[in-house]
Amino acid sequence: MSKGFRLFLVLITIALLYPFKYKYSGIDKRIEPYVDELYELTGAKIDQVGFGTPIGVNAIATCNTLYTTITIKKGYWDKQSEKNKILILGHEFLHCYRGAEHKKRYGNGMCPKSIMYPASPGKWCSQVNFEEYTKEIKEWK
Ligand SMILES: [Zn+2]
Repeated sequence: MSKGFRLFLVLITIALLYPFKYKYSGIDKRIEPYVDELYELTGAKIDQVGFGTPIGVNAIATCNTLYTTITIKKGYWDKQSEKNKILILGHEFLHCYRGAEHKKRYGNGMCPKSIMYPASPGKWCSQVNFEEYTKEIKEWK
């Protein structure tokens, strides 16, 4: 076996195993109350959520669509309001379970129009628009 080919095999193996890092065996207890809120809202069960390092520049949470696993950056999560935590989870839920993609439009005023805006709405917008955002999560088509 040539050196080049061996290196190739090693790289392929790493690429294939990489997603396993983001497969959890269940729900992190600290996130469970918010998963329950989302279940109330949508009737859909998220079954794999944990803290870790989401892939992507400045990512605060990601969905691994291969395993419908949600990974959240703990340092960011801990600083968020209760409402924003539900919305962060809701955003990732729509990626993972509804195949939703980002929507970049802003609404009237200073808040994103959609919960699928590619950044967290933050404390103010999640407070002001909570009803609208949760309605969007619930009724996503
Ligand atoms: Zn997103």
